Amino acid sequence: LIADLILSKSPVSDWPSTLFEVNDNIRRTDRLLGEPFEPGSAIRATLMRGADATLGELKLSRLRGRGGAGYATADKWTACRDSEGTARYIVCNADEGEPGTFKDRVLLNRYADMVFEGMTVGARLLGSTKGFLYLRGEYQYLLKKLEEVLARRCEARLLGTDILGEPGFDFDIEIHLGAGAYICGEESALIESLEGRRGKPRNRPPYPAQHGYLDQPTVVNNVETFACSAMIAVHGGKWFGETGTWESSGSKILSIAGDCTLPGIYEYPFGVSVREILQDCAAEEAYAVQVGGPSGILVSWKEFERSISFDDLPTAGAFTIFGRGRDILEAVRNYAHFFAHESCGFCTPCRVGTQLQKKLVDKIADGHGTASDLEELKHLGHLMRTMSHCGLGHTAPNPVLDMLEKFPGAYEQKLTSLSFEPAFDLDAALA
Ligand code: SF4
Repeated sequence: LIADLILSKSPVSDWPSTLFEVNDNIRRTDRLLGEPFEPGSAIRATLMRGADATLGELKLSRLRGRGGAGYATADKWTACRDSEGTARYIVCNADEGEPGTFKDRVLLNRYADMVFEGMTVGARLLGSTKGFLYLRGEYQYLLKKLEEVLARRCEARLLGTDILGEPGFDFDIEIHLGAGAYICGEESALIESLEGRRGKPRNRPPYPAQHGYLDQPTVVNNVETFACSAMIAVHGGKWFGETGTWESSGSKILSIAGDCTLPGIYEYPFGVSVREILQDCAAEEAYAVQVGGPSGILVSWKEFERSISFDDLPTAGAFTIFGRGRDILEAVRNYAHFFAHESCGFCTPCRVGTQLQKKLVDKIADGHGTASDLEELKHLGHLMRTMSHCGLGHTAPNPVLDMLEKFPGAYEQKLTSLSFEPAFDLDAALA
């Protein structure tokens, strides 16, 4: 099916949703996906409790943004509320472009009410009347369904004017479709794109919470963060904070893919170990996991006791497993090509650095590398991490450098041989 679609060169919008949803089975639930959610319940709870008290519940929950950076949501919302401006905006970042991440797609496909309701709760707390859902271009097939949800919510008076009969509580959500640029997942580039310009990351500070969309205070949060906010409005901050760890409260939805028998969507309390996850998804022959996508952390089999949390292994959702027989150098080469393709080109360290990195990894993978190329990769990685303008350039060397540190043999054996053999004893690792 995939080959037929690619060969037919049909536009992405014509592709059936099943193409994207092969891994969308929900296999494990917790606080978010495991609880029933009644549309309107979070708004009603917010109106009854009051805006300040609901913000207090958000603080009590210790919720941190689920997009990867992990900034405290209550602090971000408070900064936006307290900033000077003629209007305030709520933006849901659904530009889910990190390779290996597909949990926002599932949330939007099956839990859209929860996400929109979290945005509406935010609007009540901040006094916003306008929100945007910035939808990844490749998710265009979800657009019609999401617009139907918005229309239904307007009819039920969960959006529009005087929401649920509350005078002056007005809020609308508009869906803005991205055009396929990974950099637009960065919040300031996203805002540039929303304003109709090229998605180029802004200098920070000032942060969007002070000067965002149209230079007004703007909250930008991930899809999962808004879904969590809705559930916190209903159940309270204490309920949410009872699970997970102190630094990383609540649960995390993971997109699990790669060399395992049971790929799909898994929701775990923060603090779960990599080993527990690998057991659940039946990844018996795993020897490495890329946590957090290419910009994340490559975890070797020696580190499987490490945990998913903001203070150990943070992730926006990607959990990609490499098992026996998988040539990890090819995976890293793939990531290097991805960053070279997605660099927005604005600053030299990233624009040139990602191209040089790609060429060096290609050279080594093709069997033409020398020891000095490894030194060059380290030097280049350090330069990109320290000199790039935004997070894309800072994290683009991660997979290449992580592999140099954790699986140096994968490179070294390529320097002398065209055939790749893992440099460690795989059988001993899996025993
Ligand atoms: Fe663009 Fe890369 Fe520079 Fe970010 S680091 S501004 S993506 S060129």
